[in-house]
Amino acid sequence: MTRKWRNWARIQTATPLQILTPASTAEVADIVLRAASDGRRVRMIGSGHSFTAAAVANDIMLTPGALNGVRTIDFEAGRITVDSGITLTQLCLALDGAGLAMTNMGDIRVQTLAGALQTGTHGTGRTSGTLAAMVTELELVLGDGSVVTVNADRDPDLFNSARVGIGAFGIVTAITLAVEPKFRLEAHEFPCDYETVRENFDQWTNDHDHVEFYWFPHTHGCYVKHNDRTDAPASPPTKLSAWWEDQFLSNTVLGAACRLGRAAPGYVPIINRISSKALSDRTYTDESWRVFTSPRSVRFSEMEYALPRENLLAALDEVKALIDEQGWRISFPVEVRAIPGDDAWLSPATGRDSGYLAFHAFERTDRSWFVEVEKVLRAHGGRPHWGKLHTRTSEDLAPDYPQWERMRQVRDRVDPHRVFANEYTDIVLGE
Ligand SMILES: Cc1cc2nc3c(=O)[nH]c(=O)nc-3n(C[C@H](O)[C@H](O)[C@H](O)COP(=O)(O)OP(=O)(O)OC[C@H]3O[C@@H](n4cnc5c(N)ncnc54)[C@H](O)[C@@H]3O)c2cc1C
Repeated sequence: MTRKWRNWARIQTATPLQILTPASTAEVADIVLRAASDGRRVRMIGSGHSFTAAAVANDIMLTPGALNGVRTIDFEAGRITVDSGITLTQLCLALDGAGLAMTNMGDIRVQTLAGALQTGTHGTGRTSGTLAAMVTELELVLGDGSVVTVNADRDPDLFNSARVGIGAFGIVTAITLAVEPKFRLEAHEFPCDYETVRENFDQWTNDHDHVEFYWFPHTHGCYVKHNDRTDAPASPPTKLSAWWEDQFLSNTVLGAACRLGRAAPGYVPIINRISSKALSDRTYTDESWRVFTSPRSVRFSEMEYALPRENLLAALDEVKALIDEQGWRISFPVEVRAIPGDDAWLSPATGRDSGYLAFHAFERTDRSWFVEVEKVLRAHGGRPHWGKLHTRTSEDLAPDYPQWERMRQVRDRVDPHRVFANEYTDIVLGE
């Protein structure tokens, strides 16, 4: 019986010939060996939260559900080794129980660790980088079924390629992360006008551990978030306030506003003006992983680009002008983040401090405007997030990644017969 798979955003589907759920590295190796000798392709998926076809596996699909344990914790070195299919929620709970935490995170924690890494998932931070920057070792099953463990000293070229590898350098079976003693963050979230945010963003990103903001298209309204480490005791939002802000306003009302905007696009600017003012000024303190992440129930599709940090705000100004000029109706806020560069060869932040601009289209609304916005982001030296929609191909991506040629050589070495390829990697990495 064939089973249809679709991603979270419901815009990518796969009909795998076979779906398997391996429970050990040895089982993965066995599957890959058989697939290679049968001339088949094999790919592990995560939680399906990529918007691109990165996880589409139409031949043999491996699901991560039985590879989600903690292998070892080295308290002295500050290292945890986990099975690759562990979700970020499971990982955060395990770390919290051990008095540890991840240094930085993105917006949500439902992804698997391997899935999040493979597309270059990131949050925002003054000194702490992408998830890939926290990885110290990977265990991989290569195209011939062999199992290797790589790190900065042992096969560094493979380590640098496979940390953000879109699944093309092997099935990742275990991951070691540098972690730290658990810490709390004080969050300050407040509405602010675009001009003030524009003027202060560089200073804020110097002054605070984590800064991001959302700009509501067609308005001057923004919502800013500052998170800073604190020794103060936890004072999380009350249940009612958490429900009101995180569920009701950020999800229920946003969903209703987007549905209204989809039915009557002419009202989008007014709806956005109201939405940008609805969220309140609030401060709370909680464990880091609870502050970094929040639930997302409104379904959308997304394009996100990493730009050289110094081009971030100029690019946003240009996109803002373009939106006004073109008369598109965009109901979802644009998310703006900044992060130090890392050294994973395919990371959108490789080799340079980066600013990220993320554009969202509510489900079943027009997203053809992404293409025009993408031209602006490309002109500013932007690199696409591998899990978010874009139109790039290997030919035009190659010049943007200093180690592209070495990465290609690594791929030829570890997967010469392209057992791990899919249509997406054929497009973005070449066949
Ligand atoms: C609501 C929402 C919020 C998001 N917020 C952020 C954010 O704040 N920051 C950000 O950067 N991104 C964000 N994303 C994007 C998301 O983090 C990435 O797309 C991530 O890759 C999804 O992880 P996943 O577990 O769902 O992996 P999938 O999307 O299922 O897979 C991603 C890739 O990893 C590969 N893969 C999975 N497991 C393995 C393995 N064991 N070995 C080899 N390859 C493997 C897959 O084949 C695929 O190529 C968000 C997405 C959504 C839907």
